[in-house]
Amino acid sequence: MGSGGRTIKFSSWQRLRAHFKAAFSEQFEYQRNDGELGENSHTVRKRGRDAYRYILLLLVAVLGPMLVHNMVTHQTVMAFACFALLVTLLINIRLLGGDRQAFLSPTLLLGLGILLIVLAVSLGQSYSVYWLYPLMAGLPVLLRSRRSLAIGLISGAMALPVIFIHFDLSSAIVLSFSMAVTWLVSAWLVFAVTEQSRRLRDMAITDPLTGAYNRRYLEEKARSAIDSWQRYRRCAAMLLIDIDFFKRINDKYGHSMGDTAIKQLVAVISGRIRTVDTLCRFGGEEFVVLLQETEIDSAVRVAEELRALVETSRILPEGNMTISIGVAEVVAAADLDHWFRLADSALYLAKSNGRNRVEIARDVLPAREPRTRTVPRWR
Ligand code: GH3
Ligand code: MG
Ligand code: MG
Repeated sequence: MGSGGRTIKFSSWQRLRAHFKAAFSEQFEYQRNDGELGENSHTVRKRGRDAYRYILLLLVAVLGPMLVHNMVTHQTVMAFACFALLVTLLINIRLLGGDRQAFLSPTLLLGLGILLIVLAVSLGQSYSVYWLYPLMAGLPVLLRSRRSLAIGLISGAMALPVIFIHFDLSSAIVLSFSMAVTWLVSAWLVFAVTEQSRRLRDMAITDPLTGAYNRRYLEEKARSAIDSWQRYRRCAAMLLIDIDFFKRINDKYGHSMGDTAIKQLVAVISGRIRTVDTLCRFGGEEFVVLLQETEIDSAVRVAEELRALVETSRILPEGNMTISIGVAEVVAAADLDHWFRLADSALYLAKSNGRNRVEIARDVLPAREPRTRTVPRWR
């Protein structure tokens, strides 16, 4: 930090708030399933497990007094049920705390919670029915999936007879109705928020002109491909595509026709690549296709096919539009920046060798070149 810089100190309260905010911004997780995913996804999943652990801790805080109450009032069956659930929760909290996976899924947890309440009511503790409200509200939050709909209906079907047996008719009707409303409002809120975040996420990773992924998404995917290569030796290749003489196309047909040509190019390329591959708009009229599980020979074949396909696709009103492609495999890349530079050098070669060509990154470039250049050399 420069001489004028000030170190910002965060209080413990701010750190705690930031920790909780991060934990609850992700899906709840109870299993470790990091698989081939990168460091980033590992952190996200860890946060999801942290969030689930806090939910379990909250339930322990509720169950503790219930256990004591049942022990003091000699309600053996309920005391035993509370004790069993409490021990299960504590084991799972310990597992999650040790960064291991829990065996109690959110679905199972909700099922057991509802069973416990139904048991308490049927044993004469009618006041326990009010615990169903937080459970009904928590159900969609905890599951965040359409499964919560089914579980809500099953729990309603289980709880209804118990409520109608232990309460007079009007109380039972009011209780069931208010519980159903609690559940529906919570479900609606969760689905609305989830939908909104999905839309925002889509907007954040999509290029508005072409509908292809944008550079942010490309970087995420490419980082994950590098991780997969470094951990599991899974190949991947990058095709860096640039339209030839695009300035002339703009000059001749106008900017909006240029835009249409870019969109058509995206349609042509995405119609040819596999669903596991990723097409991203890298910038202006440059695109990257990330090919998963593809070695250099196959990548060159795909690039050659794409080049020929674009040449014959009649994207322009008269004459053909062509592209140049630089191919670089992940094997040679030390990191993301290096991989981009390899593909960039191959594209430079394709441009200088006459355009409408595919070239491979032949020279293994030094992993870290001083970052003086931020734009490709052919511009
Ligand atoms: P080269 O064969 O060397 O690639 O020649 P080029 O003319 O294609 O050169 P370059 O790749 O540098 O072209 C970039 C041009 O693309 C500049 C800009 O006018 C145009 N361009 C960039 N983004 C857009 C866009 O979104 N729409 C349109 N219509 N044109 C764009
Ligand atoms: Mg360009
Ligand atoms: Mg160009």
